[in-house]
Amino acid sequence: MAGRPTRIEDHNIPVRSSEPASIITVSAQSQIQQLESILDSLSEFVCRVDQNGIYTYVNAAYSRLTKFKREELLGQPILSLVRDDEVRAFLGDLLANPRPLKHKHMYEMPDGSRQFEEWTEELIYDPAGNWIGIQSVGRDITDEVLAEEAQQQAEANYRLLVRNLPDTAVFIYDHDLRVHLAEGPLLNRPNALRRQFEGNRLPEVIPPAMAEIAEPNLRAALAGEHRNFEFIFENAYLLASAAPIQDESGQVIRGLVLVQDVTERKKMERDALRSALEHETASLLAGFIRDTSHDLRTPLSIIVTNTYLLRRTSTEIKQIERLDLIDQQVKRLERLINELHLMSSLDATESNDLNRQPLDFHQLILSVAKTNNNPLIEKNQSLVLDLDPDTTPILYADESQLVLVVMNLIENAHLYSAEGMPIEVRTQTHPDCVTLEVIDQGEGIEADHLPHIFDRFYKVDAARSTNRGGAGLGLAIVRRIVTLHGGKVYVDSRPGHGSIFTVELPLKPINQMHG
Ligand code: ADP
Repeated sequence: MAGRPTRIEDHNIPVRSSEPASIITVSAQSQIQQLESILDSLSEFVCRVDQNGIYTYVNAAYSRLTKFKREELLGQPILSLVRDDEVRAFLGDLLANPRPLKHKHMYEMPDGSRQFEEWTEELIYDPAGNWIGIQSVGRDITDEVLAEEAQQQAEANYRLLVRNLPDTAVFIYDHDLRVHLAEGPLLNRPNALRRQFEGNRLPEVIPPAMAEIAEPNLRAALAGEHRNFEFIFENAYLLASAAPIQDESGQVIRGLVLVQDVTERKKMERDALRSALEHETASLLAGFIRDTSHDLRTPLSIIVTNTYLLRRTSTEIKQIERLDLIDQQVKRLERLINELHLMSSLDATESNDLNRQPLDFHQLILSVAKTNNNPLIEKNQSLVLDLDPDTTPILYADESQLVLVVMNLIENAHLYSAEGMPIEVRTQTHPDCVTLEVIDQGEGIEADHLPHIFDRFYKVDAARSTNRGGAGLGLAIVRRIVTLHGGKVYVDSRPGHGSIFTVELPLKPINQMHG
C-alpha cells in the first residue's frame, strides 16, 4: 500500500469486518523466521493488512520507508498513514477485478525532491476462497523515472533540434531496423513519403529501390561502421549518413541515419563545374588560336602574296622561284597540321594503347641516320654515331613513335647548329634502361628557357625560329612519346657551346621478351 509520511488521522475503514487475518500458516517457527529474514533483506517495501485495514505484517524496508518501527505499525490501522480516498480507490478496483493491481505515486519530499514509488496490491484469500486482507509490495522507482524523464527531455530536445535543421530527416532504429524516432522537416514536404515511420521497420516503409540501397548501410551502422550513401527520390538528391549509437560500454544499441536533401548543393556544384569547364575550354581554345594563328597566318600570307605575284611574273625563273616559295610554305602548313594532329592523338593515347613490339634500338637509330640526311649534307654537318658496342638494347616500344623521337632530336641539332658542326648520337646500355644522347655544338639554350622548351608551342625565339623549326611542338611530341613509353627526357645546354638532349628508355623486361 502506498505509504508516505502524510499521516492522516482518519480511521473510517471502508472494509467489511471479518475474522482476524493470519498471514502465514506454517507450523515451524523457524521457517517463519527464515521467511521474515528474507523479506527483511529485500529492498522492496512489503506490508499486509487485514480486512479492517489493520497492519498484520510489515518488512524492514516498509518500516524504514514509513519511519515507524515494526511494533508501532502492527495492529495499527493503515489509514493512519495512507489517505482514505487512495485506499478506497484501489480496494474498489481490486474487488471488482481481483488481479494484482499496479499503481504509481509521486511524493514531494520536504526538501523539495520527488520520490516515485510503484506499488502492487493483491487480495489475500483464506483456504475457503474468501478475501481476508491485502498485500502491498512497493519499490522505489525514483531513479528509473528520473532517468526516463531525462531521456524524454533529451529526445524532445533532439526532436526540436532536428525539426529546425533545414532539408533534413533523422531516423533512429533498432537491430530489427524498426524506427524509434523519425523527425525532421524533410518528412513534412508535400511530396515526402506520407508514411508512419515510428514503430515500423524502415525497409518496409520506404520504396523498394530505396530500401535496397539503404538496408546494407543501415545494418553496417549497427555493426559499428559509419556509412554515407546517396539516392534520388522525387527528383531530390538525398545524401544519407548512417552511424552507430553506442552505450557507455561501447555496445551498439541503435543506428542513426541522417538524410539531407542536397539537390541545391549538387546543382550549384554542377553549375560551378560546368562554368569552370566552359572557362577552361574557352581559355584552351583562345590559347590554341593565339599559339597557332601566327604559324598558320605566316605561311598563308606568303602563299597568297606569291600567288598574286606569280600571275604578274613574266620570266620563267622568277615563276619557279615563287612556286618554290609557295611549295615551301605549303609543306610548312602541312607539317604544322600533321604535328597538331599527332599531338592530339598522343594526348588521347594511354600507355596501354601503344602498338608495342620488341625492337632493337640501335637498328632503329641506324635506319633513321640513313634516311632523311640530305639537310645535314646540305649544311655540311656530319652525323657521328657512337652506339654502345657489343650490346643490343631491346625495347618494347612503338617503332613509328620512337623514329619520331630520334628524328626530331637530330633535326633540332641540325637546325640550331652552324654549318659544318658535327652532330653526335651516342647510346649507353644499362641493366634496365638505355640512354640516347643527341649532342650538338650549336647555339645552345639560355638557362631561362630550359624549363619550358618541352612545353607545347614554346619557341626560344619565336621571331628567329619562324623560318627554322616548326610551331614549337617537336619537343612536346618527343616528351609525350617518351613518357608514354615509361621513359624520361632532359636537356643540358650551354649557350654558345651546344646542347645535349638525353632520352632514357626502359629496356624490355625479360618476362615480356616473347610477348
Ligand atoms: P620546333 O618544333 O619548332 O622545332 P621544338 O619543340 O622542337 O620546336 O623546340 C622548341 C625550342 O627549343 C625551339 O624553338 C628552339 O629554340 C629550342 N631548341 C630545340 N632544340 C634545340 C637545340 N638542339 N639547340 C638549341 N635550341 C634548341
